[in-house]
Amino acid sequence: MATGKINVSVDNIFPLIKKFLYSDHEIFLRELISNATDATLKLKHLTSIGEAKVEYGNPQIEVKVNKDAKTLHISDQGIGMTEEEVTKYINEVAFSGAEEFLDKYKDAGKDAGIIGHFGLGFYSAFMVADKVEIITKSFKDAPSVHWSCEGNPEFELTEGTREERGTEIILHIAEDSEEFLEEGRIRELLQKYNKFMPVPIKFGTRTETLPKPEGAAEDEPAPTQEVDDIINNPNPAWTKKPTDLKDEDYGAFYRELYPMQFEEPLFNIHLNVDYPFNLTGILYFPKLKNDLNLQKDRIQLYQNQVFVTDNVEGIVPEFLTMLRGVIDSPDIPLNVSRSYLQADGAVKKISSYITRKVADKLQSLFKEDREAFEQKWNDIKIVIEYGMLSEEKFYEKADGFALYPTVDGAYYTFEELKEKIAPQQTDKDGKCVILYASETEAQHSYIEAAKEKGYEVLLMDSPIVSHLMQKLEGDKEKISFARVDADPLEKLIQKEEKQISKLSEEEQETLKGQLQGVLGEQSSFTVQLEAMDSKQAPFVITEPEFMRRMKEMQQTGGGGMFGMGNMPE
Ligand code: ADP
Ligand code: MG
Repeated sequence: MATGKINVSVDNIFPLIKKFLYSDHEIFLRELISNATDATLKLKHLTSIGEAKVEYGNPQIEVKVNKDAKTLHISDQGIGMTEEEVTKYINEVAFSGAEEFLDKYKDAGKDAGIIGHFGLGFYSAFMVADKVEIITKSFKDAPSVHWSCEGNPEFELTEGTREERGTEIILHIAEDSEEFLEEGRIRELLQKYNKFMPVPIKFGTRTETLPKPEGAAEDEPAPTQEVDDIINNPNPAWTKKPTDLKDEDYGAFYRELYPMQFEEPLFNIHLNVDYPFNLTGILYFPKLKNDLNLQKDRIQLYQNQVFVTDNVEGIVPEFLTMLRGVIDSPDIPLNVSRSYLQADGAVKKISSYITRKVADKLQSLFKEDREAFEQKWNDIKIVIEYGMLSEEKFYEKADGFALYPTVDGAYYTFEELKEKIAPQQTDKDGKCVILYASETEAQHSYIEAAKEKGYEVLLMDSPIVSHLMQKLEGDKEKISFARVDADPLEKLIQKEEKQISKLSEEEQETLKGQLQGVLGEQSSFTVQLEAMDSKQAPFVITEPEFMRRMKEMQQTGGGGMFGMGNMPE
């Protein structure tokens, strides 16, 4: 037997980087700006602990496009690198200076918000550039360094001419990547990935209108000035303490996140935990009505204020993907597959933490102002009902605040409902029969008939309600749901008040025959004749509850974004 060491030939690494490092080439910009941010935050940390004896000032990151020279420039005023550091951090592929920094400064470094950790980010530049230059000067008293590399393992290292502290990265954009020389494209990327990064990022200038000087003529145009166009908000709301934020601040941040959303969210939940994992964020409940298919404007996932994805599937429980907002956590492993994510212990904890926070918030809204909660019910019920069906822990809590509205606009919790209706609506087997309608107009006459008999009728109109009823019937003792036009209605015990049909036996038979002809032999409808002198309809057609529900569940089962096929029975 022999053991040995596999020899990785670096000659082949550049084509590999270009093809496989990230499937999305556009993230090179995110990586380089992350490095510029790290360099700035490191300096901030070192000056704050007195290890760097320089003025921190108000450092910026600047992104510039030079279309004629076909170059893209990213510069920062961070710690910079000495020649020795360039050799160590840049020339060694997959050696992360960020990780080394974190090791050295431990938790303090973590608090500094350092982003990098794989030691591959810088090389993503070669996905879009065929030559990359680094011009850097360390905050330490050392000469400036100029590194350049043309996408092969040979690099050039000479003394640079940079006078001021910091680093400039110059990408000579490859022919197949010229889209990244378009200002519009770069602006779009900055908006997507860097909108909330912690160091101000300048991209060109913009014209600002100043107030008119006093006594200026009506038709005189207001004076303007050119100012730096800072594309990011370095202090987004979720990084602040909840006690420092007012309702308006949450509203303003929502508009910042979703500029095209004009409807106000119903309420928000500020997430903030640092043990046993780090997570901050703000979730918003939008008005959802009965819409199960909200796809755009989803929750955004950040890592240390860098946008990662707006596909949070696997990180937050499925029912909460209907919410909006931001989650920021350095503890979510990012560059791994979804199936791995779902099995990851930290991710599971995060998911159950979020579920608990959402349940707690709903509970406190319910307790503090029930009336307001009732008013919101129709817009939030789809999330709550879906959560009750898919997360047992959520169900246990939600059982206390989930509401069951009647067709007349009263709202009961399950317990209240049962207490209210048990005396009238218990059948011969001792089961409490909960009547409901799914459409007030189409089922109007049935609703009226039930109300006439003194029954309470719920309005259950969400697309997943049949699943929820099934769940409740399995969970609660001695209850069953029946739609107002279903047969169990007849079985309810009531003050027996014989109703005499105005139709003769013969007429009844003819009518039944005619209806059967219309409805078809196969249908299991029953025809019930009732008094014609009341407000009630002359006859009602009922369909067995279980038949109808089967059909409904088949419709919502299977497909759809929520894969209802896996719903608990
Ligand atoms: P990571 O960020 O994961 O450590 P990168 O490949 O992105 O890995 O970068 C490698 C290292 O190069 C960084 O850790 C850092 O030490 C150094 N570096 C990269 N860009 C800069 C910069 N703009 N200023 C100072 N150092 C930098
Ligand atoms: Mg990096």
